Amino acid sequence: MPPCQVNWLRHIAGVWQTARSVAAPALLSLLLLGCSGEPVAAPQPSASSAVAGPSPTAAPALTSTPPPSPTAAPTPTATPPPSPTAPPPTATPAPSPTASPSPTVLAQPLRFGYPIGLAGRAPGDGFFIRHGYASENTWYNPGHWHTGEDWYALAGDTAGAEVYAVAAGEVVYVGSNYPGRVVIVAHDGGLFSMYGHLDPAVAVGEGDVVERGQLLGTVLRRGDAVPNHLHFEIRTFLFTDAVNGSTPRYGFRCGPGCAPGPGYWPITAPDHPSDLGWRNPTHVIAGRMFGEPGGLGEVVVPERPPRTSLTLWSAPPGEPQEALDELPLAPGERLRLLEVRAGPEDSRETSAQGYLLWYRVATLDGAEGWVEAAVASPFEMGSDGRPSSVELVLLPSP
Ligand SMILES: [Zn+2]
Repeated sequence: MPPCQVNWLRHIAGVWQTARSVAAPALLSLLLLGCSGEPVAAPQPSASSAVAGPSPTAAPALTSTPPPSPTAAPTPTATPPPSPTAPPPTATPAPSPTASPSPTVLAQPLRFGYPIGLAGRAPGDGFFIRHGYASENTWYNPGHWHTGEDWYALAGDTAGAEVYAVAAGEVVYVGSNYPGRVVIVAHDGGLFSMYGHLDPAVAVGEGDVVERGQLLGTVLRRGDAVPNHLHFEIRTFLFTDAVNGSTPRYGFRCGPGCAPGPGYWPITAPDHPSDLGWRNPTHVIAGRMFGEPGGLGEVVVPERPPRTSLTLWSAPPGEPQEALDELPLAPGERLRLLEVRAGPEDSRETSAQGYLLWYRVATLDGAEGWVEAAVASPFEMGSDGRPSSVELVLLPSP
């Protein structure tokens, strides 16, 4: 029996001990799961099981974020920005408006950004990370760390959402049936970004050079029982022997020579996904957002912020901190982004609590301080009760 099947049986037994009150469909889903990181026919979690979680003692109270509705929901309609129209020629020039003082410092162009979005809005706005890096996905693949981030719409269906290159690079792989296409982009510094479950009508081909924010495709409407979503990874390899090269260590369905790789790594493995070359995508994006140390740009409050206010702190975590003020958050509000503090790219944590993303921001009226820009959410929990989901409180404005 392949090692992965042994692991599966062990996990099924363990899960049974801790989740005897799980509804029959959820248990059936565990039994039907294959070894692949992305099986094609895993039963869909019901909205109630997704919200309540499998643990009878740890039903996470969903506060401000409704569960993503995997079934209903129209495709997010792309609302293209209004095309600029040339001003009509006029004989008498309009009086020039009073020139507003120009900003003294120009914002740096972002080098890295989030991989999903809706046209006309900041990347990431309207989405959350339902299963974070190196967290456990108990309804889908218990007993395994997730090697990337699963991005879902906060409301409605994720199918049709736009998928963007997170940084400039070259497309080195387009293919697979994940289900859906996989696109892999190679970046400077030996990093690869991987985008899974795309509609077959991808917008790029192998060899294309892409810019940050360039459209790669849209999220697939799958047609199987798994809710539509983007599986997104950042890693240091296209192929590596033990994962997806010539001698994969575990018997995932995505075996030798499978560029996408399995998307999961056994909890029982002696090494953490970061040891194999996977990276915490949010930490990479935040840490490399600006080409120069620190940073200067803008952040925007998403349309559905997970919190209504943020505490302004005198310093980032790890230093003596003092609460300075409480900053109310209004959707669409912009703040100046002065500095970024992100956790390590090769994080060794194993839950959403391991995410660390802080911004130093300034308001228009001069308040300034550090705020926590990504927060762990109990929307999904690992089998040990730690959160697997991450919500974004502020988004970089491209
Ligand atoms: Zn995934």
